[in-house]
Parts: sequence; structure tokens; C-alpha cells
Amino acid sequence: MISKDRTFDAIVLGAGGAGLMCAAVAGQRGRRVLLIDHAPQPGKKILISGGGRCNFTNLQTAPDRFLSANPHFAKSALGRYRPEDFIALVDGHRIAWHEKTLGQLFCDGSARQIVHMLMEECAKGGVRIALGGPVAGVAHSDGRFTVRHGEETASAPALVIATGGPSIPKMGATGFAYDLARQFGLNVVDPRPALVPLTLSAEDRLFRELSGVSADVVARAGKIAFREAALFTHRGLSGPAILQISSYWRQCEEIGIDFLPGRAADWAVAAKRARPKTHFHTLLGEVLPGRLAEALAKKIGLWGELANLPDEKLRAALARLADWRFRPNGSEGFAKAEVTAGGIDTADLSSRTMEARRVPGFYAIGEALDVTGWLGGYNFQWAWASGWAAGQVL
Ligand SMILES: Cc1cc2nc3c(=O)[nH]c(=O)nc-3n(C[C@H](O)[C@H](O)[C@H](O)COP(=O)(O)OP(=O)(O)OC[C@H]3O[C@@H](n4cnc5c(N)ncnc54)[C@H](O)[C@@H]3O)c2cc1C
Repeated sequence: MISKDRTFDAIVLGAGGAGLMCAAVAGQRGRRVLLIDHAPQPGKKILISGGGRCNFTNLQTAPDRFLSANPHFAKSALGRYRPEDFIALVDGHRIAWHEKTLGQLFCDGSARQIVHMLMEECAKGGVRIALGGPVAGVAHSDGRFTVRHGEETASAPALVIATGGPSIPKMGATGFAYDLARQFGLNVVDPRPALVPLTLSAEDRLFRELSGVSADVVARAGKIAFREAALFTHRGLSGPAILQISSYWRQCEEIGIDFLPGRAADWAVAAKRARPKTHFHTLLGEVLPGRLAEALAKKIGLWGELANLPDEKLRAALARLADWRFRPNGSEGFAKAEVTAGGIDTADLSSRTMEARRVPGFYAIGEALDVTGWLGGYNFQWAWASGWAAGQVL
């Protein structure tokens, strides 16, 4: 516990990836840092991330893999603290890791190792950690921030907001960062669930009956496309391709799914010439799961031997399968969203230090900001990079 009226050089609110990194870096620079979290343990999202193995970074990290109202904001921090910097830290702690796919790096063992590593780094920096009590209020006067935390009070000339976004509230996630930002006159870009399953309406019931079926597809929203697996669920669509596209999707918009990525437009016509007795749904079943192939053939209304199906109908069917239109009626919301898009407006912050331009000493880092990465380790890389950037200047 902290004793009454303690003073620090910096107080960091939120002991997730960003807050732990920031506190460790500042502490190791000789700053007296207090790290506060209302949860009884640090890094809860790290622990559940990557199926318990934490997809801690992505080798393909680049600013264009992040969504933000200001696409340039993330460049500075991402450029100065790179995936290889975090890998060096992980290697220094002898944590074994592997690349899974698409540049995604995971622990061989457990996400616990990452939390343990960050806690060790905090300990090296002499960071004081106060867990398990709510933040009752933050005041600012005479250039100092005073934080009431449980029965305690602490103050510092610098305050870092690292309390993340409201995705997965049952894990203790809150919109606290936004309330605090607004209290200090910062703008908040409308938060919305991202990396989230999408839901389908009754007219797409046929697809809901495919719950559990997955396929390699290209999912599109506007000009953005991802080739990965899509999964049908009892409520709609999920899987990496859908989670990725959900971050770009807006209510009432359509998404397009190419169920036959890489197939030529006259693939079915060529098959008809070569094997006329083959049924259309059987042909689709050669490249798609059988249940999905049948459902799609039924939806299109093309059934029977290829020989009996006109070429133009086969071509039209392939065109539809290459850009199948869904109009999701919503998403599974913050309860299921891996991250929150939107957040504290980066226009109010320095991209080099994460400090608010009009409130000296007030910093915001990590997911609390309007910077949202793709699926695949990008969000942790942002947490590390933004935490490191602020930690350098506290
Ligand atoms: C299921 C799941 C799996 C994920 N897997 C990955 C992955 O493999 N790779 C990846 O890159 N990203 C992944 N993410 C996203 C990633 O976890 C987040 O982007 C990242 O944790 C954000 O870090 P942060 O420190 O900004 O916020 P958080 O990790 O959310 O930390 C915020 C901290 O603030 C605390 N807090 C909140 N409100 C208050 C308050 N009022 N007072 C005091 N403390 C408060 C919370 O308890 C928490 O400890 C995953 C997310 C989820 C939900």
C-alpha cells in the first residue's frame, strides 16, 4: 500500500501492457513512479491474449496497419520502439517464442511470462505498484496531479492514462480514460467495438445453420481486404478475416466475401467441359467445406449436374461467390470486442511524447488513444511503443 500524501515524479493509471512498459522505462530512468490499477493483478488482458500465449508483436508492424483519425500519429512512437526492441527484451528474459503466421510472434510457453517480465522490469526501476482499489478521483492544481486511490492520496507533476478502452468489461475494462480525458478538456473520438464478430439478420438464417464451419476467404469493406479464415457462428460471422474487417465496417454498410479466392471467373464452365456429370455443389465442395458449398448452391438456386446448367448461369454464380454481399445488422459489441477503436483524440497530443498539448504533464498511451491495430500482435506493439515514448520523457 502507499502511505498518505506520497509524492512521485509520475503516476501511471492502468497496469496493462502500456502502463507497465511506461512505468518500467520511466523508473529505470531514475523517476519515482507509482503505478495504480483497480484490478487485483496486473496485465489481465496480456494473460488471456493470444489464447494464453500472447501474440506480443508483429514483424510486419507499419503505421498503415493502424486505424486512427490521424493516420500519421502512430508513426513516431512505432518508428522509435520497434518489434525488434521488444524481441530483445523478451530474449533478455529468456522467454522462448515462435512466429506463427503473417509475422505474428507468440510465447512458446505462457502469456504469464510476459507479465512476469514487465513486472521484473518495473521492479528494476523501483516502480511502486498499488493494485486492487478504485481510483476515486484526480485533481490538478499548481502543476501537480493528485490521485485519490482507495484510502490513499498520491501526487506527481506527471499523470499517465493507461487504462485502456471499454472492450471486455467483465475483465475490468472501463471508459475511465475517456472520462478523465474529458475532465482535462481533451476530445474523445467516438469509441466503437473493433476486432469483433459481426451479427447477421434473420434473412441470412441459412448461414447461421452453418455455425462452426470455417473457410479461407477474402473479406472486404470498402477498399480494405483481408485474406484469412472466416467462421460462421450461431449469431453471424467471426474468424480472423471478419474480425479484421469489423474494425473498418460501419453500421448499415455491407461487407463482401470472396468464397473462391484465386479461382478464375470461368472455373465452373471449364469444369463443366471437363466433367459434365459433376454436380455444382460437389464442385464447390472441392474448395469449400461441404456444408457451406451446399448452402451457397441452395442460396444461388443452382442445383444439379454441370452439364444441365447454362454457362452464363455458372459465370454469374461464380461472380456472386467472389463478392457475396452481407449486410451485418450489428456486432457482438464491447462484450466480445478484442479492442476499442476510437478513443482519446490524438489531435490533442504530441506524437513524440504522448503529452497533451494544452495540459502539460498529462499523458495518454495504449488502447485508450484513438489508435487501433490490426489483429495479430499490432495492438500490443502499440501499447509497448506508446508506453516507451512517454516513459522516455516523464
Ligand atoms: C481476448 C483478447 C485477446 C487479445 N489478444 C491480443 C494479442 O494476442 N495481441 C495483441 O496485440 N493484442 C491482443 N489483444 C488486445 C490487447 O490486449 C490490448 O490492445 C492491450 O492490452 C491494450 O493495452 P493497454 O495497456 O492500453 O490497456 P489494457 O491492457 O486494457 O490495460 C488497462 C488497465 O487499466 C486498468 N483500468 C481500467 N479502468 C481502470 C480504472 N478506472 N482505474 C484503475 N485502473 C483501471 C485495467 O484493469 C487494466 O489493467 C487482445 C484483447 C483481448 C480482449
